[in-house]
Amino acid sequence: MTQKFDVTIIGAGIIGLGTAISILKKHPNTKLAILEKDNQVAAHQTGHNSGVIHSGIYYKPGSLKAEFCVKGRTSMAEFCIENNLKYDKCGKLIVAYHEEEFPRLQALMERGKANLVQGLELIGPERIREIEPNAVGLKALYSPNTAIVDYTEVSELFANKVTNYGANILLNTKFFNAKSINKHTIIKTSKGDIKTKYVINCAGLFSDRVAKSMGIKPKLRIIPFRGEYFSLIPEKSNLINGLIYPVPDPQFPFLGVHLTKNVKGYIEAGPNAVLAWAREGYRKIDIRPYDVMNTFSYPGFVKFSSKNLKTGLMEINRSFRKSIFLKDLQKMVPSLKSSDLTKGGSGVRAQAIGSDGSLIDDFAIEMGTRSIHVLNAPSPGATSSLIIGDYIANLADDLINDVVPKKFESSFFDNNNENDSSNKNIAILLTMILFGSLLLTLITVIGAFFILRAIYIYEWGSNSFTHYIDNCSFESFYFIGKYICSFLGF
Ligand SMILES: Cc1cc2nc3c(=O)[nH]c(=O)nc-3n(C[C@H](O)[C@H](O)[C@H](O)COP(=O)(O)OP(=O)(O)OC[C@H]3O[C@@H](n4cnc5c(N)ncnc54)[C@H](O)[C@@H]3O)c2cc1C
Repeated sequence: MTQKFDVTIIGAGIIGLGTAISILKKHPNTKLAILEKDNQVAAHQTGHNSGVIHSGIYYKPGSLKAEFCVKGRTSMAEFCIENNLKYDKCGKLIVAYHEEEFPRLQALMERGKANLVQGLELIGPERIREIEPNAVGLKALYSPNTAIVDYTEVSELFANKVTNYGANILLNTKFFNAKSINKHTIIKTSKGDIKTKYVINCAGLFSDRVAKSMGIKPKLRIIPFRGEYFSLIPEKSNLINGLIYPVPDPQFPFLGVHLTKNVKGYIEAGPNAVLAWAREGYRKIDIRPYDVMNTFSYPGFVKFSSKNLKTGLMEINRSFRKSIFLKDLQKMVPSLKSSDLTKGGSGVRAQAIGSDGSLIDDFAIEMGTRSIHVLNAPSPGATSSLIIGDYIANLADDLINDVVPKKFESSFFDNNNENDSSNKNIAILLTMILFGSLLLTLITVIGAFFILRAIYIYEWGSNSFTHYIDNCSFESFYFIGKYICSFLGF
């Protein structure tokens, strides 16, 4: 039987849940559902982040990020305190190690002031040591109001509140596509059809694809960047009192590898930022050929990577070599040793990239005819979630009151179909190149195996090594076959 709702939200991450709360607070009688493909809320970015309530220092004054983060920090802190959730206003240092970083630190101070972030201080080495006795640095920006929280715990409470309003969180329900018919939209899901008046797309890593399957063409693409963490061993959990960050590279949207205390009582180091081979690729070996193709066939990514090749290679190098990761951490806390670090978790960031190769820095929330799409909500998305929710609830009022122009003009939607076929051709060509190279590699490996085998037989006749190769040959083919199958996702 087709279920019917007024508003259907796709994605039970912190933004989908925050949006549901805001809508239900304003209009408690709304028949609302949240569709979530996984079996729990906060299963992706929300449950795999650093747990920081950012104060609003980094963001361009006047941007949505600046406005939402500063307001969001207060509302998130109040929410945690009111509801007795784990919360610690532990403060944060952004530390400069070279004089060349001073102007960037000063610029951050000015941004913070312009964004009305309270309590910021520029401090020297002595004050750094007072706040963090194990840290060093020439100069630092101190933000006493930065706090930590557990965003999974926050989301679970958001989910309770949503269900207490009488709304439905439909877990294990994957959105496939949606079509508008008269004044309604019919959504196809893995659990059957849903009839709804309005759709709100909060699908995180898949928000561009969800928009596309509703007939909208976003002029951006989500590119997944994995962030890997190390954890400090329990004996080192008192090494720092709060958060220690480096001065970020202004060309890059990520904040640099940092040391983060978390509310569970241990310290995390990271995250780095490496291209992920799958949109939910939490491990280095997670590869989905469709996602790889989707990334590499996108002209925006090709332009972005050609501009950022050096940074990208450095990140890959650090991802594979603990010693380099450690070196970056030792700049902040010199006493850290390799044996203090154990492998931690990871998260995948949904970073939107424009077709011109630019990283979309600000939050991107766009309206369709009877839909709203959160197309870019990277950090500080979790900090800002309640305010993003309020913003979307106001947009939803506009939708309901038909304030939206008939043909909504959005800088992120493409009304032009021309590029489509050429993009598809590039995708097909790249797919052929990738699989061609894979086939060639496979042929080379198998060829090398037989050549080696022939050499050994020629050199040593049927001695024990030849015998060994003979016996293991079937096993080798089995493993190669198994690897190829898992790579192709069978
Ligand atoms: C490594 C890392 C560190 C971060 N650190 C911080 C931090 O310290 N502070 C901060 O404020 N922010 C941080 N962020 C950013 C923050 O986590 C995100 O901004 C926020 O979680 C985005 O929430 P979301 O609801 O948009 O996405 P998500 O949490 O990814 O939720 C999207 C949901 O949509 C679901 N979905 C997708 N497709 C479908 C479909 N077809 N059908 C049904 N459901 C679907 C997914 O399963 C998922 O549950 C960090 C992010 C990462 C990755």
